[in-house]
Amino acid sequence: MGTDAGLIAEVIVDVPAKATDRPYDYRIPTELFTEVQIGSRVKVPFGPQKRIGYVVNIKERPAAGRLKSIQEVMDFAPPLTPELVQLGFFMANEYLCRTITALQSMIPAVLKGTYQKIVRLHPEAGRKEETLLSLSAKSLLVHLREQGECAWEDALRFAGVDASLLRQLSEEKWVVLEERVGDRVTKQKVIFVRPKKPEELANAAASLSARAVRQKEVLRFFEKRPREIALPDLLSELGVARSTVKTLVEAGFLEWEERELYRDPFAHRQFERTAPLPLTPEQYQAFASIVAPIRERCFRSILLHGVTGSGKTEIYLQAIAEVMQQGREAIVLVPEISLTPQMVDRFKSRFGDLVAVLHSGLSGGERYDEWRKIRLGKVKVAIGARSAIFAPFQNVGLIIIDEEHESSYKQEENPKYHARDVALWRAQHHGAALVLGSATPAVETVVSAQQGWHEWVQLKERVKGRPFPQMEIVDMREELRKGNRTMFSERLKEELLSCVNRGEQAVLFLNRRGFSTFVMCRECGEALVCPHCDISLTYHQTNRTVRCHYCGFAQRMPGACPHCQSKHIRHFGTGTQRVEEELARRFPGLRVIRMDVDTTSRKGAHERLLNAFGSGKADVLLGTQMIAKGLDFPQVTLVGVIAADSMLHLPDFRAAERTFQLLTQVSGRAGRHEKPGRVIIQTYSADHYSIERAVEHDSDGFYRQESIIRKQHGYPPFYGLFTLLLSHPDRVSLMRQGQEMARFLGKNLPKRTRLLGPVPAPIPRLKDRYRLQMLIKYPPLDEVTAEKCKICLRELEMRIDDGDLRFSIDRDGIVWERSFHENGHS
Ligand code: ADP
Ligand code: ZN
Ligand code: ZN
Repeated sequence: MGTDAGLIAEVIVDVPAKATDRPYDYRIPTELFTEVQIGSRVKVPFGPQKRIGYVVNIKERPAAGRLKSIQEVMDFAPPLTPELVQLGFFMANEYLCRTITALQSMIPAVLKGTYQKIVRLHPEAGRKEETLLSLSAKSLLVHLREQGECAWEDALRFAGVDASLLRQLSEEKWVVLEERVGDRVTKQKVIFVRPKKPEELANAAASLSARAVRQKEVLRFFEKRPREIALPDLLSELGVARSTVKTLVEAGFLEWEERELYRDPFAHRQFERTAPLPLTPEQYQAFASIVAPIRERCFRSILLHGVTGSGKTEIYLQAIAEVMQQGREAIVLVPEISLTPQMVDRFKSRFGDLVAVLHSGLSGGERYDEWRKIRLGKVKVAIGARSAIFAPFQNVGLIIIDEEHESSYKQEENPKYHARDVALWRAQHHGAALVLGSATPAVETVVSAQQGWHEWVQLKERVKGRPFPQMEIVDMREELRKGNRTMFSERLKEELLSCVNRGEQAVLFLNRRGFSTFVMCRECGEALVCPHCDISLTYHQTNRTVRCHYCGFAQRMPGACPHCQSKHIRHFGTGTQRVEEELARRFPGLRVIRMDVDTTSRKGAHERLLNAFGSGKADVLLGTQMIAKGLDFPQVTLVGVIAADSMLHLPDFRAAERTFQLLTQVSGRAGRHEKPGRVIIQTYSADHYSIERAVEHDSDGFYRQESIIRKQHGYPPFYGLFTLLLSHPDRVSLMRQGQEMARFLGKNLPKRTRLLGPVPAPIPRLKDRYRLQMLIKYPPLDEVTAEKCKICLRELEMRIDDGDLRFSIDRDGIVWERSFHENGHS
């Protein structure tokens, strides 16, 4: 052992220890030569245990010393491509996480669960000549004929059967090798029916007795449409019984076969095919900028800065068509909340079955099916939320990030990646075009476009010259002075009434964060707080409970104040439920649909509510963030923002940016079609620049002002930022270790950095853990310093020996500069 030449795999092993984050060498046994590939998931011995790992490299030279062998290859096709393996290393370095964490974030969650490999008889096996097969193969086939299928491990128990024989039998269509993931995701099988000899159908029908009406009907159906159809569809289409079809199969006129069906979550819907629309001159210009790099097959990134309703989606669709014509693939990212059926319909209607959809509403198994269609090249377009950026395509020509400013593109747990950064890396790797589309791009994207890193294409007009809605600010301080204590200003009430009287629809928007209903005692002024998180509890009307939105803690609404026992305890603030109640009181008969986390938690609820509103079953759609974008209803002519400033006071340097973006997006909901729209913004901070610029539709002005402030205060994109978060169940040890870490960093961080903190984090306690935060700022475009910081932080992490201390690092404002330097973008 150890001296025989052969192949060696470098494997990243899944072990939960900091010190093991490097590839380990394993010998590849001869019988696995063809199976082990870069990206394969394998089982390997590690210490006394068997562990799962990913093959990240294969090399030929024998390594020094004795090597253990790979024991098993877990999947028939490697779940990762060599490109994604490389990307994993990039992410581990960029986001300071372990390589295994980065690799595992790229594959569907069900693949990490229980998992079975199955060998089945191939449907064609019955019709083939067996004499040339080996005895081992024959005995396996006999077994399969009896059993239908068997586990991979059992197949290997037959004398003379090994992995390579099974693979060969699969290639020659004797058997089918398939993977079955988890129990809840057993694959759905469906029988497909087709005519045996389409040209003989007419004769066949004639040969039947006159009384066989049903049978004739079936044959006539196939005469008109001599293609395969799923049995359930056939039965429901013709209203015939299964036995009728069975008789025809037995008579040899039809044949049927049971096959696995991809669980297509959109299978029940019919999609009307749409043709490309003739583009407006502005759209065409944008389209041309996107297809130029596609035609040249070279990397370029484009900021598509287009007002809402400027027809960006139509441009995406036509650019994708171009990519598909080249035989390449496209990835489309949309924020989870705008991954609505409306959005998906537009893609499905244009490209039909060539689209895979990945979103969190799918079950684990459905998600896996969609992913596998991508992996096996059965689709050409992947559309999904953040993690769809890892779609395992091998020839990507275009990546689109719609609403690229959305904060949901940033993952908040390890690996703490930003989909935009990953998209950039992949687009460069593939020589693809990257399109960042938004009406309100992120400040960092605008700044890098100004510096020339992206081509900056603007769409300033709405399609067909539809006017922008008129926006109005209502100063709620004034309202109060005038004696109006309700949550609706006089203006909003007036407009809402006249909108409804015209038979049109309104959208009322409420920011969820920071403005939910809290419970306070009027005697002592204490608010009800989560006992684990130091966060105000939120009051829920439906079941009269108070809940913590961070940890899920819930209890009945108390009848008296826990601090002073006063009975004067009440809920305050403006939650969607309260707005709903108030609407009912002030506008009797008004039909309201409420959309928030409570009303949309059930699967399909989101879609149902939107359909109801779209078909005119309500006058008002009332909701949180989730209605702020992506929706397109012709009858909506009024948008009301109940409290614009609720977001402005969050402890986040992006608060102003988010407010500007939200108001601009929300206003895009009004007057999308022929009817002109109106937007009314209620606020207590009427003179804040983010609100003023939004109302004036002055995005240039906003970005200018925001840039000045970011530069002044040393925030991204003008400074690089590491945010360190420490948490611990014990406050005293946390403080002590925070101080120690700060001392270490003070001594070891490179020169041009600044360390801030430790200070209590914005949420000082969460789920019974106290939290501290430190910031490290470094000058922009200084990758040397950033690299030194990373080394220092990794060392800091290695020094932690308190098992109760959790430590996380988050990077902000990165990569753009660096990768462009490397790739010489011009
Ligand atoms: P955005 O994504 O920029 O907000 P959309 O792509 O949703 O804009 O387009 C707004 C509306 O205009 C949609 O109803 C779309 O069907 C329509 N539209 C887009 N492009 C055209 C075009 N060239 N001609 C006619 N209608 C168009
Ligand atoms: Zn009290
Ligand atoms: Zn809590």
